[in-house]
Amino acid sequence: MPSHVFRIALAASYLVLSHPVWAEDTFSLDSVGGRLPKNVVPVSYTIEIAPDVDTMTIKGKESVELQLRAASDTLMFNSLNEKLSEVRLDGKPVKSVASDDEEQLTTVRLTHPAPSGKHTLSFSYIGKIESHAQGLFIQHYEQPGGAKGVLLSTQMEATDARRMFPCWDEPAYRATFQLIATVPSKWATVSNMPIAKRQVRGALTTTTFQLSPKMSSYLIEFTAGDLAQIKATSAGKQIGIWAVRGQEVNGRAALANAQAILADYEDYFGYPFPLSKLDSIAIPGGFNGAMENWGAITYTDQTLLVTPSSTLEDQQQVFSTQAHEMAHQWFGDLVTMGWWDDLWLNESFASWMAEKETEKRHPQWHSKELQDASKESAMLADARASSQAIQKHVTKDIEATNAFDQEITYFKGQAILRMLEAYLGDDSFRSGVRSYIRARAFSNAMTADLWNGLGGAGGKNIPQIAAKWITQPGFPLVTANASCDSAGQRTVTLTQSRFLLQGADPSHERWSVPLQVRVGSSGPPHAILFSEDGEKVPAGRCGEPLSLNADAVGFYRVRYDPKALESNTKAFHSLPAGDRIALLDDQWALVGSGNEPLPSYLALASSMGGDLEVRAWEQIEGALSTIEYDERGAAGHDAFARYARTIIKPAFEALGWDEKPGEPVDVRRLRRTLTRDMGMWGDPEVIAEARKRFDAFMQDHSRLSPDDQSSVLDIVARNADGPTFEKLHGLAKQSKDGAEIRRFYGALMQVGEESLARQATQIVVSQEIPHQADNMRFQLLVLLAPRHQRLAWTTFCDHQEALLGPLEPFGPVVIAQYAPQVFWSGIPMDELEKWIRVHVPAEMGTTVDQGLQAARFKLAEKQTLVGAADTYLQAGARPGHPSH
Ligand SMILES: [Zn+2]
Repeated sequence: MPSHVFRIALAASYLVLSHPVWAEDTFSLDSVGGRLPKNVVPVSYTIEIAPDVDTMTIKGKESVELQLRAASDTLMFNSLNEKLSEVRLDGKPVKSVASDDEEQLTTVRLTHPAPSGKHTLSFSYIGKIESHAQGLFIQHYEQPGGAKGVLLSTQMEATDARRMFPCWDEPAYRATFQLIATVPSKWATVSNMPIAKRQVRGALTTTTFQLSPKMSSYLIEFTAGDLAQIKATSAGKQIGIWAVRGQEVNGRAALANAQAILADYEDYFGYPFPLSKLDSIAIPGGFNGAMENWGAITYTDQTLLVTPSSTLEDQQQVFSTQAHEMAHQWFGDLVTMGWWDDLWLNESFASWMAEKETEKRHPQWHSKELQDASKESAMLADARASSQAIQKHVTKDIEATNAFDQEITYFKGQAILRMLEAYLGDDSFRSGVRSYIRARAFSNAMTADLWNGLGGAGGKNIPQIAAKWITQPGFPLVTANASCDSAGQRTVTLTQSRFLLQGADPSHERWSVPLQVRVGSSGPPHAILFSEDGEKVPAGRCGEPLSLNADAVGFYRVRYDPKALESNTKAFHSLPAGDRIALLDDQWALVGSGNEPLPSYLALASSMGGDLEVRAWEQIEGALSTIEYDERGAAGHDAFARYARTIIKPAFEALGWDEKPGEPVDVRRLRRTLTRDMGMWGDPEVIAEARKRFDAFMQDHSRLSPDDQSSVLDIVARNADGPTFEKLHGLAKQSKDGAEIRRFYGALMQVGEESLARQATQIVVSQEIPHQADNMRFQLLVLLAPRHQRLAWTTFCDHQEALLGPLEPFGPVVIAQYAPQVFWSGIPMDELEKWIRVHVPAEMGTTVDQGLQAARFKLAEKQTLVGAADTYLQAGARPGHPSH
């Protein structure tokens, strides 16, 4: 919390209003979005399933206690690929049953209207086991010894619970669930709730799970297979980690993480974890990411298990994924968004909370600075005219998947929460969160409910400040113009406009911007709420460095006038890390949008010297990599690559090749990043050393730690000939370890030579990739694409099912949003566009536009950057000496 707030003039926008200006409703079933009629509400489900993996079918029996809010002769609910029979209401046959798989609805008509009040709907059904992670799905895998295994698991979010059992599959219909499952007796079973009883009948066993609290259908979980568990307790709750038998020992780190995180969250939320157990289940590959099912979180095995071959990044990924999914046990599960419009209440909060928890438990990872990278990727997406607001309009449940936009729903939302938290102060923010959770526990919420919680905290009008950040796309560029009085005192005049990478904003939107202001190179920042153009702020003495986004906490850009920028550039070396990062981020974006010349950015980048500030370096190497990529095939490429090497060389040399005892983990990561860049940008000495280290590794794998393998292997692969490629390929094929498999195949994709790249694409779609690594196929192709655009594109078009099947239901999003950003540099835009529009549903038009706009920006940016970089280098620039 800033210790002191100072401001002059135009104070009107800062007045705390006595009544909320937020016009939206708080949660009620009647006002919330959704397709199902609100007159019938499920109260309690009993669901019996008997899945059969041989026939890939589910035999089901279901009984639902309903509350009719008014008399009705029709019941409508969701179903997909299910055939219902023996449908009865209160034991009596119904008039008709019609299931429509296109609309994913079943309509039951009654012989007579049923009166309002309680009723019981019952039926039998035959459903389908899916082969991708939607509903109840089958997962094939290979054991390290080569034995083949199979298990069943579920993935319901957003709208796939209806594939396992017919239900009111919208988040506002919270009900209790009792699941009863019959599977082979040798299998273990896990669900949201603990097991109530098991009845063994020869080869089959029926497991009855305890009745759940009232919850949304998308959070239902069921996994069955040859699984084993390790467990512990935390705060009186049983914590379990499940994995394919034999691999449960790799869950030890996750078990310790879960114990720590649960205790921290119970404390932060001031609300105990409401179930008696929390399981985490490692599903061997096949399904993407992790899912926060209440009491039974599923993870793709790579994001839960830590093996001796896991890198530090793998371990960090495990912790932050657990922290994210466990935050959902409160934000999402205990309090669930009313409708998919407000998905940010789940995802932004879980992402923000995960970062906070990571910072608490692992301060040495510097996750706050790392978070800047995800904020930047959100700002990049949000600086396009086609960007959407955090709060999205979702009309139909089956379009809900489109709301899962990583940049905006996750990263932007997370950054906005962090900005608000910094403005309000950590303690006030937490008490607001606590009152929100308390008020909405075991129920649903809308954005207005959150504002109600936060609005009472800290005496600042958070609802008014926050509303626009959530409901309108984009963010402001704050322009600061300084003037000096005769005594040398500086005043800056502030204006704002929406920041766009291309074009101008016709809507003239404005924001209430919580600025964090620091004058000089040290001391705490001061908070200022800036809303009205022309506001004047005192800003220390002329010539002192000035940051209007101290510690890079804000989700806005700042453009300083030339004098202030000059002072900042001069003092760059002495600025606090966060201020330096904000300056680099902003100046790079201003170059991209054509507001500032490239040398203004390069002057900052070349002032780093041998300073080892990790995020600043990662920002710089990202920018240099962009120009290096754009220069490929152009006459100026080699000169630029040489120049880029001279910028990073002082830091690379300060770090050396080998780890030093006691080094912070992010410094170790920086070493690997810069080493890789030096090699990829063609430094002959680095390439020779990488080859030497690779040879030693081939003799004895212990010569290269898991952490160091990728950078060395990537450099070797990039410069590989046929025999070297075969060596790398052999490594990948022989490995039985998930982390190694991803690393070794990933290196293979770095090949430069065209004929080897062709072999690499064949490998990507081949059967040699083990089942549990199916979901990395597309990622592998993305790694290959930068150097071999046409080849990668052809492979992508010809092998959609192999590449995208494992990512379902996100296949169409990948095509619409990511494909243009992967293939923009080699495939003509009209060819890309034509293919994409044919291959995604028509209602995804906005997402396609966003993807194509990103690609068009990259093309335009390439033109600008290549020209600017060539001119700069021809003028004879040296690091530290910008040419003008
Ligand atoms: Zn999430």
